[in-house]
Amino acid sequence: MTFESLGLHTSILKALTEAGYTEPTTVQAQAVPAALAGRDLMVSSQTGSGKTAAFMLPALHKFASAEPADESGKTPNQERQSARSRGDRPRFQAAQPKMLVLTPTRELALQVTTATDKYSIYARRIKAVSILGGMPYPKQMQLLSRNPEILVATPGRLIDHMESGKIDFSKLEILVLDEADRMLDMGFIDDIEKIVAATPETRQTMLFSATLDGVVGNMAKRITKDPLVIQIAGSATKHENIQQRVHFVDDLSHKNRVLDHLLRDETMDQAVVFTATKRDADTIADRLNIAGFAAAALHGDMHQGARNRTLDAMRRGQVRVLVATDVAARGIDVPAITHVVNYDLPKFPEDYVHRIGRTGRAGRKGLAISLVNHAEGMNIKRIERFTKQIIPIEVIEGFEPKRTASPSHARKPGGWKPGDSRSAAKPGQRTFSKPAAAPRGEGGGYKGNRDASAPRRSFTDR
Ligand code: AMP
Repeated sequence: MTFESLGLHTSILKALTEAGYTEPTTVQAQAVPAALAGRDLMVSSQTGSGKTAAFMLPALHKFASAEPADESGKTPNQERQSARSRGDRPRFQAAQPKMLVLTPTRELALQVTTATDKYSIYARRIKAVSILGGMPYPKQMQLLSRNPEILVATPGRLIDHMESGKIDFSKLEILVLDEADRMLDMGFIDDIEKIVAATPETRQTMLFSATLDGVVGNMAKRITKDPLVIQIAGSATKHENIQQRVHFVDDLSHKNRVLDHLLRDETMDQAVVFTATKRDADTIADRLNIAGFAAAALHGDMHQGARNRTLDAMRRGQVRVLVATDVAARGIDVPAITHVVNYDLPKFPEDYVHRIGRTGRAGRKGLAISLVNHAEGMNIKRIERFTKQIIPIEVIEGFEPKRTASPSHARKPGGWKPGDSRSAAKPGQRTFSKPAAAPRGEGGGYKGNRDASAPRRSFTDR
């Protein structure tokens, strides 16, 4: 399948060629035709699968193909401009977007806006702006006064503008909820309901989420009409292009030594190191800088300007190691990230999936390493149950832990059925993983086999 065969507007095709996209990704191939036909969508697809274009390209096609709306042959924005040039007294008019994309975080919103600008670069009339918490109000008022066709927003700040009459959704045609599961995790359910209630019933609704189970699935069913349900590759969580491994560590000092060693891997271009707390993100970034790494912290206590500058520096390659918390790092899309290191394990297995999705972008290879202390074996087990994948334990020569696995971790990995696993082991056969090769070339110093004191069993071993 090609983008041409999807029948997209020529201005979009030109932009996609320039962006180097040769063919639609799986989620795009399934979602774009249905969205072009006006259908609602409920999509579960893994992060990095190309979901932004899956909802944005059909919307841009619709707007680029639309005729000017009024009798004068002018778009509402051209009409506003003519009124201004006639010297009519400017009076406040609420922005009337045609499309709203809701995202859980500011970073994801900015990324969606940047992608939209890229796809619509030759469709001159279309403007997209981000409305975000942390951005100064005067700046946002200025953006809204341009009456953009597309608003990309985090729920809280959007509600502020809605309630003060700065945004009117009566002309809204398309509503997208991006990473809907995450928005619910972050407690945005009431805000989302309020926003949805302010939009016309006739809208097209597209919901993207890592999972369509449970609360998010129920909400999706409530706000969509006869949706096409798209589940990519049966699982939103496989990340087959990302090698995963666990290194056991004895204590903090051992953990720091292993981290330093991993970051010196010559196959590493850029890395994201995840910590549980903002304070640790700062401390570890400082420590790594002193140790000679080009490191920077990224977390929610930083001002938006500082967060943007850090991300830009990461994109330009000036920062090699980003030390981040979950929320701040969500949605980061930097293709040169070859390594993700879980310095601390995430609280929820879903976050593990989002974290490791920061590497292996757009089909590249990536390596995701979790540094785990002996008491955390259960948490790894929960992650494995969620992803339905076994994460190999590996030992680095010279950095061996005194113990490798807690008794709870040398266990039966319960919770999934034979056939679900990536393993092709036959019943009764024990599966030992080979050391995972680094994304490019040979990774340094990994022992050829798992530490024999902690044999891990596949489900076939029970
Ligand atoms: P997303 O899942 O939307 O965050 O996209 C992940 C990455 O894939 C981004 O860097 C996109 O620019 C890239 N991408 C999206 N669609 C395509 C495509 N059809 N071909 C190549 N790269 C793509």
